[in-house]
Amino acid sequence: MPAEILIIEDNPFNMELVRDLLEANGYLVREAVTAQDGINAIKEKKPDLVLMDVQLPGMDGLTATRILREDTNLTGLLIVALTAHAMKGDEDKVLEAGCNGYISKPIDTRRFPVQVAEFLEQATSQNNC
Ligand code: MN
Repeated sequence: MPAEILIIEDNPFNMELVRDLLEANGYLVREAVTAQDGINAIKEKKPDLVLMDVQLPGMDGLTATRILREDTNLTGLLIVALTAHAMKGDEDKVLEAGCNGYISKPIDTRRFPVQVAEFLEQATSQNNC
């Protein structure tokens, strides 16, 4: 079974890029353009990985992550932030909000599939402990 990945991203160009890269690597992709739609999609069916844009119109990605972390039905949900120009302070904020990690934008198209695979592998090995 290919891993199922939900992308929450409001920028159409980034969405297309990330979706194309993931699909080219055999993942099942779902999409949400707002944090609220993303939360609804996750509650409907828990994905193997959430790629969470931080800057979203309305509710931002870190607020959405905090809400998801309070949901006891979603324990172990893997959330990786997509951060623009990540700096040291941003990294801390992302982790404090409950993200498992982050991938910096602009996306490095060669590294991105490797980064995604590493996050999924980490989650699998943790679940097996
Ligand atoms: Mn955005």
